[in-house]
Amino acid sequence: MADPKGFMTTPRETPQRRPVDVRIKDWREVYLEFEQSRLQKQAGRCMDCGIPFCHQGCPLGNLIPEWNDLVWRDDWQEAVERLHATNNFPEFTGTLCPAPCEAACVVGINGDPVSIKQVEITIIDKAWDAGLVRPQLPRTRTGKKVAVVGSGPAGLAAAQQLTRVGHSVVVYERADRVGGLLRYGIPEFKMEKRRLDRRLGQMRAEGTEFRTGVNVGVDVTTEQLRADYDAVVLAGGATQPRDLPIPGRELDGVHQAMEYLPLANKVQEGDFEQSPIHAEGKHVVVIGGGDTGADCVGTAHRQGAVSVTQLEIMPMPPKSRSEQHPWPTYPVIYRVSSAHEEGGERLYSVSTQEFLGDDEGRVRALRLVEVRRGDSGFEPVPGTERELPAQLVLLAMGFVGPERKGLLEDLGVEFDERGNVARDENFMSSVEGVFAAGDMGRGQSLIVWAISEGRAAAAGVDRYLTGRDILPAPIAPTDRPLS
Ligand SMILES: Cc1cc2nc3c(=O)[nH]c(=O)nc-3n(C[C@H](O)[C@H](O)[C@H](O)COP(=O)(O)OP(=O)(O)OC[C@H]3O[C@@H](n4cnc5c(N)ncnc54)[C@H](O)[C@@H]3O)c2cc1C
Ligand code: SF4
Repeated sequence: MADPKGFMTTPRETPQRRPVDVRIKDWREVYLEFEQSRLQKQAGRCMDCGIPFCHQGCPLGNLIPEWNDLVWRDDWQEAVERLHATNNFPEFTGTLCPAPCEAACVVGINGDPVSIKQVEITIIDKAWDAGLVRPQLPRTRTGKKVAVVGSGPAGLAAAQQLTRVGHSVVVYERADRVGGLLRYGIPEFKMEKRRLDRRLGQMRAEGTEFRTGVNVGVDVTTEQLRADYDAVVLAGGATQPRDLPIPGRELDGVHQAMEYLPLANKVQEGDFEQSPIHAEGKHVVVIGGGDTGADCVGTAHRQGAVSVTQLEIMPMPPKSRSEQHPWPTYPVIYRVSSAHEEGGERLYSVSTQEFLGDDEGRVRALRLVEVRRGDSGFEPVPGTERELPAQLVLLAMGFVGPERKGLLEDLGVEFDERGNVARDENFMSSVEGVFAAGDMGRGQSLIVWAISEGRAAAAGVDRYLTGRDILPAPIAPTDRPLS
């Protein structure tokens, strides 16, 4: 145990965000550096619980008390080894994870949890800076070939695990760059893409091959895929967005979030001067109160929107845990993300009835109504209809599952009751030798789950190809709380 009294003597601290008026003018990550000595005191707050509930909260089973202790003791090399033992990409989770481990931390029962996420990102940042993150080349070659379809966190984790145990791995990505939602969904201000590129450099050096601009099922047929590879990992994400089929949906200026965010990310990559879908000078309305919506809010502010309003059909959540979400579950509470801190308004318990257009077919406003829960779901409250000006409307209402046409239908995989690719306990689909990981098998979820599933699917593939049991499998598909 690091500091036996740390959790009593040291209050929880997290890093400060850069001032809003400064960060809104650039796209860099919003957090300021956290001084090392303060970070070590934070790690010292860990009680090294006999039953560490943080493990249970983390889909990767991260060895949190171990690395807290190592950080406290200034042993950064051992700390990064323990971190990498369960997580291929701690810089992605360290910047982007909502930290279910912290929600499950025992200190959080009646106090403030350990700042686990900050300890994680500091360990990996220091490790990169110190040159401790090096390619891990396979010691033997199996002669087996594996195709991974999709280069999001699930595909990358599966590919890295499989390459390291000696398989020849090719990752196919239909976009022009590798990374999935890490590249084109998540804005630069949440995670700078240099973190992704640095990790891809390591993967290339280890021998993973990437082929971008290849839509598997179209550019490469499924027959070719099956003929050329001994196993396939499907990691294509849950890319079908939920739509809002109400009058006016066809108007110019009404877009899915995932039509808008990738273009903003492409500006940061240097592909455009200005995004073809731009918020400058516009009243922007984001429909959907979740994280994707918050990413649209932050992006619209940086593009110079006149106003940004985020709409949510659900009521405003409570400020602290309710009885429905007792410790150690991940609670639904009112959160102020960095994007929300930067401005805009959030409206709860409202539903959009119609998009209203001008004479040229462009959206000019939307008609809103307040709602409350009734016997038949959300019911409009009479007399509360009103117009909200909007020249750009972004739909961020979640994703309904993977795309079936093409790849999945051609392969003939079965789907589960939620419309995702069904898997057995080894992450194999109903088609022999075809595995599925991440959002494609689990439905819309989190990066930490995608990495966990990618690692577990890799273990299933390796077992299938070689009969050995050497890769860790954090979790089976049958044992997976939804998030
Ligand atoms: C805007 C946004 C912000 C988010 N922010 C966070 C966050 O802050 N924290 C968090 O934990 N989670 C976040 N999430 C969720 C998280 O990004 C996903 O759960 C995670 O990326 C899923 O990983 P994946 O590898 O399964 O799929 P994806 O990241 O979706 O990657 C799938 C890839 O497969 C490719 N592909 C699909 N079909 C084919 C094909 N036929 N051929 C070739 N390539 C194909 C796609 O182009 C895509 O690049 C966010 C999601 C969105 C949409
Ligand atoms: S639950 Fe919290 S206090 Fe206990 S081991 Fe995990 S991080 Fe440390």
